[in-house]
Amino acid sequence: MDTKILQPQDIEIGARLIKNGELVGMPTETVYGLGADALNGTAVANIFKAKGRPMDNPLIVHIAKIEDVYRLTSDFSDKARLLAEHFWPGPLTIVMPKSEVIPNEVSAGLDTVAIRYPSHPVAEALILAADTPIAAPSANLSGSPSPTTANHVFKDLKGKIPAIIDGGQCEVGLESTVITVAEGVPRLLRPGGVTLEEIEGVIGKIQVDNGVMNKLAEGARVSSPGMKYKHYAPKAHVMLIKASSCKYTDYVNSNKGNGVGALCFDEDIKALNVPYITLGRADDYISQAHNLFDALRSLDKMGLTAVYAHCPKPTGVGLAVYNRVIRSAGFEVTTLE
Ligand code: AMP
Ligand code: MG
Repeated sequence: MDTKILQPQDIEIGARLIKNGELVGMPTETVYGLGADALNGTAVANIFKAKGRPMDNPLIVHIAKIEDVYRLTSDFSDKARLLAEHFWPGPLTIVMPKSEVIPNEVSAGLDTVAIRYPSHPVAEALILAADTPIAAPSANLSGSPSPTTANHVFKDLKGKIPAIIDGGQCEVGLESTVITVAEGVPRLLRPGGVTLEEIEGVIGKIQVDNGVMNKLAEGARVSSPGMKYKHYAPKAHVMLIKASSCKYTDYVNSNKGNGVGALCFDEDIKALNVPYITLGRADDYISQAHNLFDALRSLDKMGLTAVYAHCPKPTGVGLAVYNRVIRSAGFEVTTLE
């Protein structure tokens, strides 16, 4: 199959493909999504095939008008409504009890559905033109870093999907924040561009799922199936180092060798004696989020085989950066006091 790169003015072509049950790579403000008609179970099943995604990992349904929530969920609770009013359109996904129109392929057999209203104008226009909610996971091969440019999508999925709409580089750069309001006290399942602090400012104290910061024990009950898989991994072996800039750079330099590199912050650059990629300043979490996935892909282009990543601080959007980096490192962390 030939994979066409479409421009934003070709949205009608993308919308027709979605209506016909085909898959389209689409830009959002978080990462690129691989979209299909969320109400067509057969089309949605093809997303899993194209990505090699485990069938038990449910998808997020993207909408472009709030009214759509009412037919997709059986309970749009007061808390969910407050969150939607404050953060939509934007990078927040809300898990709610699903209605009967949601195919099993979307919810992976769960009785809930994850819904988001993206703010990217191309995503919004595509959903409206297709006249149906669009189910879309990140448009990468399962396990690899999520795509933040049309070119990343092309590299992973060329020949497997008919089209990708090029909407430029994604602004946020990490996947959406996921919160469930389906089981009593709302719980953060995945950190993202909307922070824990911002959410608590709107609906009060929430819980943070154990899987956000920690590796889940073998066989543990998982609320968000996506959290149990190894993720965002470049080919290089990534090791996360929790340390001051000074201790970090000394440690990396002492391990200098063929194929050894660093994923660091601006403050570390001067002292490093190995090839590196910087994510930005250590306190600039927004830039770190924006740069992370492209940086992880670039490590492979540099031919690195062992990468020491300087651990980000898990506050604000930094919590989302931490959550992704620790997964790309397979939870391998070294702390230097
Ligand atoms: P992706 O779109 O590839 O970033 O993955 C979507 C994320 O949302 C995964 O971590 C899923 O496990 C999670 N998710 C989607 N639907 C649900 C749901 N109904 N309940 C809990 N988590 C969900
Ligand atoms: Mg993904």
